[in-house]
Amino acid sequence: MPVNMISKLLEKAVLPALDVAPPVKIGGPRRTSVLRNPNMEKLQKGYLFPEISIKREEHLKKYPDAKVISLGIGDTTEPIPSIVTSAMAEYALGLSTPEGYQGYGPEQGHKNLRKAIADKVYPDMGIKETEVFISDGAQCDIARLQTLFGPNVTIAVQDPTFPGYVDNGVIMGQTGKVDDGGKYAGIEYMRCAPENAFFPDLSRVRRTDVIFFCSPNNPTGHAASRDQLRQLVDFARRNGSIIVFDSAYSSYVSSSSSSPRSIYEIPGAREVAIEVSSFSKFAGFTGVRLGWAVVPDELLYSDGFPVARDFDRVVCTCFNGASSIAQAGGLACLSTEEGRAAVRRVVGVYKENARVLVDTFSSLGKEVHGGGDAPYVWVRFPGRRSWDVFAEILEKTHVITVPGSGFGPGGEGFIRVSAFNSRDRVLEACERLKSFLA
Ligand code: PLP
Repeated sequence: MPVNMISKLLEKAVLPALDVAPPVKIGGPRRTSVLRNPNMEKLQKGYLFPEISIKREEHLKKYPDAKVISLGIGDTTEPIPSIVTSAMAEYALGLSTPEGYQGYGPEQGHKNLRKAIADKVYPDMGIKETEVFISDGAQCDIARLQTLFGPNVTIAVQDPTFPGYVDNGVIMGQTGKVDDGGKYAGIEYMRCAPENAFFPDLSRVRRTDVIFFCSPNNPTGHAASRDQLRQLVDFARRNGSIIVFDSAYSSYVSSSSSSPRSIYEIPGAREVAIEVSSFSKFAGFTGVRLGWAVVPDELLYSDGFPVARDFDRVVCTCFNGASSIAQAGGLACLSTEEGRAAVRRVVGVYKENARVLVDTFSSLGKEVHGGGDAPYVWVRFPGRRSWDVFAEILEKTHVITVPGSGFGPGGEGFIRVSAFNSRDRVLEACERLKSFLA
C-alpha cells in the first residue's frame, strides 16, 4: 500500500479519538452506578492545548482564508531521518518472516537499546543499562511514576510548569482542590522567573517528598546551570526527597553550553534522582512514541527498599514494554555516528528557528528568555494577561502562540513561542510579528 494511503488510514483512525468526548445529556443516556474518581473532578477545566485548538477553529471561522501559522504546541514538524525510518521499516518487514518475527519483548526494553542509552546519553555518568527502562514516552513514565508514589506523597513543581506533573498528581489524589489563583492545595509551587534566574530560593521552599524539575525547561526555555542543579541535589539529599528530573529537551543543550544535560552530571544525584527522557523532541518520535526512565540502584525508600524494584514491577504490570518497531528506530538514532549526526541535524533546524525567534522579539525591544538551549522562547508582556496577548497576536498576525498562564500562575504575563515549524513558516511568522509589534 502506498505510504500516503497508510497515513490517510491512520489519520481517519486517529482523528475521532482526539475529539473531546460528547457532553452527557441530562436525562439522556442511561447512567451506570459507578462512582467517578473524585480526583478527576478536581482537574481544572480544559487542558491547555484543546482550548487553543478551539480558539484556532473559531479564528478560522472568522477568517476562512487566513494562513494560520502555529508556533504553539510543542510538536515536531521535520521528517524523521531516513536512516531511522529504514531501520523501523526493515524491522517491521522482518515481522512478516518466520526468522524475523518476535512477540513480546522484555518489559524493560531491548538490551541493545538500554545499553546504547546508557553509553551514548550518559557517558561517564556511571549509568548501567539495567538502570534504563525503555518506555512509550516521558509523559507515560510521569504517570507511571505517580503509580509508584501513590496518593500520600507531597510534591513540588516549578511555576510555570509542564502540566503533566501537576495533573497526574491530582489524578493520583496527592492534592486538594484548585484555588482561584490556579494553585492546588498541597502542591509546593517553586516560582521560576527571570528575577531569580528561573531557579527558586530553596531556603524558602517547603520540603516535599517528590520534586519535579524540568531542564531545559518547558515552557521557559531555561537550561538550569550546574550550580543550580547542585543546589537542587543538595536540597533533596538534605530533605530525603526524590527528584524526578525531566530531560526531554536535553539534546537542545549546545555542546558549548555549561548547563548539564542530565541530573547525573551532579555528584550525589544517583541517590536522590530519577530521570525521565524521550525520543520525541530528540528524534521527531512524538507520534512513534519512545522514551526512557533511569532509576539508579542506589535510590532507596525510607525503609531501604530499592525504588527500581518497584518501578520494574509497575512497568511489568501497567505497561508490558515499548513497541519493538519504535525501539529499532531508537537504536538507529544512537548506535551509529551516521544516525546520531542525522538526528543532531534535525535538532539543529529547530535550534536555528529558536535563534531567529529570539532575534525577532529582541529586535522589537521585548524581554526574551530561553531559545538558546531549548526549542521554546519565553516572551514577557508586562502588565498584560497572557490570554489577551495570545488573542491579540492571533487576531492581528494569524500566528498561534501559547499563553504562559496555561503553565501555572507564574506564567501570567508571558507567552511561549515554539520553534517547532518549518524554517519558511517561522520566517513568515517573524515578518508578521515584526509588522504587528513594531
Ligand atoms: N516532558 C516535557 C517537559 C514535555 O514538554 C513533553 C512534551 O511536550 C513531555 C515530557 C512528553 O514527552 P513524550 O512525547 O515523550 O511523552
